[in-house]
Amino acid sequence: MAEQFDVVVIGAGPAGYHAAIRAAQLGLKTACIDAALGKDGKPALGGTCLRVGCIPSKALLDSSRQFWNMGHIFGDHGISFKDAKMDVEAMVGRKDKIVKQFTGGIAMLFKANKVAAYYGFGELQPGNVVKVTQHDGEVVELKGTNVIIAAGSDSIELPFAKFDGETIVDNVGGLDFTEVPARLAVIGAGVIGLELGSVWKRLGAEVTILEALPTFLAAADAEVGKVAAKEFKKQGLDIRLGAKVSKAEVTGKGKKKEVALTYTDAEGEKSLVVDKLLVAVGRRAATKGLLAEGTGVKVNERGQIEVDEHCHTGVNGVWAVGDCVRGPMLAHKGFEEGIAVAELIAGLPGHVNMDTIPWVIYTEPELAWVGKTEEQLKAEGIPYKAGSFPFAANGRAVAMIEPAGFVKVLAHAETDRILGMHLVGANVSELVHEGVLTMEFSGSADDLARICHAHPSLSEVVHDAAMAVSKRAIHKAN
Ligand SMILES: Cc1cc2nc3c(=O)[nH]c(=O)nc-3n(C[C@H](O)[C@H](O)[C@H](O)COP(=O)(O)OP(=O)(O)OC[C@H]3O[C@@H](n4cnc5c(N)ncnc54)[C@H](O)[C@@H]3O)c2cc1C
Repeated sequence: MAEQFDVVVIGAGPAGYHAAIRAAQLGLKTACIDAALGKDGKPALGGTCLRVGCIPSKALLDSSRQFWNMGHIFGDHGISFKDAKMDVEAMVGRKDKIVKQFTGGIAMLFKANKVAAYYGFGELQPGNVVKVTQHDGEVVELKGTNVIIAAGSDSIELPFAKFDGETIVDNVGGLDFTEVPARLAVIGAGVIGLELGSVWKRLGAEVTILEALPTFLAAADAEVGKVAAKEFKKQGLDIRLGAKVSKAEVTGKGKKKEVALTYTDAEGEKSLVVDKLLVAVGRRAATKGLLAEGTGVKVNERGQIEVDEHCHTGVNGVWAVGDCVRGPMLAHKGFEEGIAVAELIAGLPGHVNMDTIPWVIYTEPELAWVGKTEEQLKAEGIPYKAGSFPFAANGRAVAMIEPAGFVKVLAHAETDRILGMHLVGANVSELVHEGVLTMEFSGSADDLARICHAHPSLSEVVHDAAMAVSKRAIHKAN
């Protein structure tokens, strides 16, 4: 006999654990199931984000950045040192400790909120029953008045470059190299490729990024992409656009293993030999084995679970959130969907505004944006005005030796309402929220321009960019 719950959540990643905790806060009897195991072979909650995504990548980005700064920035501060060395094992160990702290934290939050955790694989059966095959082989059945599917996503594997966890890897292997590869190739110049490529470049690897598209960072505002490409080039990241890889052959044994890549670009067929290959060509909704016959839940041609704007699947009481449904594959998008669905189930108004979801790439400099790009506004025929301001003219940025980049504010030509904010520079992962907040409140560039910003601070760049929309920036010629 299946145990009865108000809410059964499949997946304890960002989308699932937010849904479960919020549902429990609202007094609903909630269970959450997750199949993942950590590096130590024990169950680890928190999904891709906490185990092998957002948090571990940021830990390595931070360690590698400190190392890079020693060789490239410290001298300008008058700091000298001898023989800086990176202990990769210690760096990865620090990352693993952070992962353990945070995945363990979710288990504690479940306990504190009385979310019943089940460790194993969940399969949705008709009638809102979830069959859970636990790690010890025992099978239990849970029946939910509501079931929230938050199964997340997996890396896409290329048919000619199968992951072996050692020489050809995805994000999981790319976060766990035991030494700095002398030569690393990355397929895909997206967020994951750029972030992990940066980590190993900063530590001394020769990094080549092969991107099939002819445009660099096509999703970003073109000006942001241009500045980023220039800065990455200065750092020695070799980004080759329009490069379509067709073959990846592993040769040699043990430490002498190499990968011979064949790719085609505008000039014809080329080859590249590297020590490690990181494939970062995107992620796919993780629906394998998730849905038994007859549940009625539909999966589209991209493998995503079909939902309406409220994340409802169309099957009574069955919802789906996060990476396994449409929309950006971002942890915070999943957070908001998880919370919104729990609130809808409890009879509250739950809503996610897809127009104000911020995007961040944690490279050096960081890139961030919210809303529409100039290219989108032009294509949609929306009249707009733009104001931008460079970090090079900001006292705090120059004092920090972080002069690269700018902030651009795009506002409607007639109403002045902010339609987008695009940033490249120091700490823009934090600054972008000025744009998110203003847009959420339907604010104008003038509203932002009239808000007092602390001096000296990087946020003044946002302030000056907002003032530049009406050609009244103080610290530059308008
Ligand atoms: C290297 C890397 C860096 C990233 N950095 C960022 C970043 O900086 N910021 C950002 O916003 N996003 C980032 N992301 C993306 C982010 O990790 C995902 O968008 C986010 O984790 C999606 O959350 P989710 O809850 O939908 O799915 P997931 O995090 O994938 O979690 C799904 C969980 O469900 C479990 N599961 C799946 N199917 C079943 C089943 N049938 N039964 C039981 N359990 C199941 C899985 O084991 C998993 O634990 C990054 C991703 C990667 C790979």
